[in-house]
Amino acid sequence: MQCPRCDGQGEIKLVRVQANGAILQVCDECDATWPYGEMPNIETFQDFGTFMKAHGLQGLWSEITVITDHPEK
Ligand SMILES: [Zn+2]
Repeated sequence: MQCPRCDGQGEIKLVRVQANGAILQVCDECDATWPYGEMPNIETFQDFGTFMKAHGLQGLWSEITVITDHPEK
């Protein structure tokens, strides 16, 4: 899925946060983040780093595992 925030430059990936098992959708280009199951929308994104820090993590890609590069919607 292409990212609505960076105008198709980035690809939205479905990822799992290793520390707590949360499933997220993250753009690999601009790090825009949406909860799993939410339609990616430019009005509602969170910054990946901010989201992770809010959960006591550092906000590194090494803290997540990519489940799929092409989540189905
Ligand atoms: Zn993006």
